[in-house]
Amino acid sequence: MSNRDPAPDPPVVTAGTTGGPAHEVLMSRSFAVGDGTMVRRLLPQRRLRTIGAWCFADHYGPDDVVDNAGMVVPPHPHTGLQTVSWLLEGEIVHRDSLGTTQRVGPRELSLMTSGRGIAHSEVSPEDRPPLLFGVQLWVALPDEARHGEASYEHHTDLPVVRYGPLTATVVLGEHEGTASPGTTFSRLVGLDVHVDGDGILPLDPEFEHAVFVIDGHATIDGDPADVGSLVHVGTGQDALQLSGEDSRVMVLGGEPLGEPLVLWWNFVCRTGEEVAQAREDWAQESDRFGKVEGYHGLRLEAPPLGPARLLPRS
Ligand code: MN
Repeated sequence: MSNRDPAPDPPVVTAGTTGGPAHEVLMSRSFAVGDGTMVRRLLPQRRLRTIGAWCFADHYGPDDVVDNAGMVVPPHPHTGLQTVSWLLEGEIVHRDSLGTTQRVGPRELSLMTSGRGIAHSEVSPEDRPPLLFGVQLWVALPDEARHGEASYEHHTDLPVVRYGPLTATVVLGEHEGTASPGTTFSRLVGLDVHVDGDGILPLDPEFEHAVFVIDGHATIDGDPADVGSLVHVGTGQDALQLSGEDSRVMVLGGEPLGEPLVLWWNFVCRTGEEVAQAREDWAQESDRFGKVEGYHGLRLEAPPLGPARLLPRS
């Protein structure tokens, strides 16, 4: 998915600033993207910029896509990140400048590593199921990996760990010795947890964590939470209390990244100059991002670059 926030704000993310235990409930911002689809942006927020290397989280749907085109995200570039598409319902077709065409369904990991540059499109197929419901996540690549090669992975068989009424699918990273097959570049975890009763989920106390509801209602460490709210759990916690009735939550965690990031549009960089270069490389159709074949329509152009927006807010 492309970040179509008309005012990508705040553009500057300072990583690794959330040390120590925390318990704070934050609300998503909602806005329309593209054809009017509403998304709930859970990350980044002014009060919480990153969780480990996780630097972006949108939750959308369930949307009825019978009488409209569903997801239509034209070709757009990425650098410095991995995109994680995770569907609860529906299907999308991913195409990228490596030549990949992949149909992705619910509970399947669609993982794209941009390295220095890649372009992709995501659309609902013509013979789509009636609902579209999912999560789009970005993982910042650490400095030593962000200039590397681009790649795409699709994994349909993800490991599941059970704790009584909690059923945790390891979408990405590692949880209690159980690892997702998806490639990672820093220590992190992304879990989709089905909650049906009261349970305890172990956490890695070296990680910082955030939890948000993706379906239904849940109680997270004593706080009632609905779709659109995120509970920030800092570092140093070794367990999380979860309760719900046929609910699902997403748990994101990771070792604090400790690198300052500059997020602008679909780019994760380190400086404003790097953002400007990436924008120029896309505008000039350079080989850096390549071309998405098989998409019928125009690619997305980057919004104007406002130099002032790249300055830290201090
Ligand atoms: Mn994208």
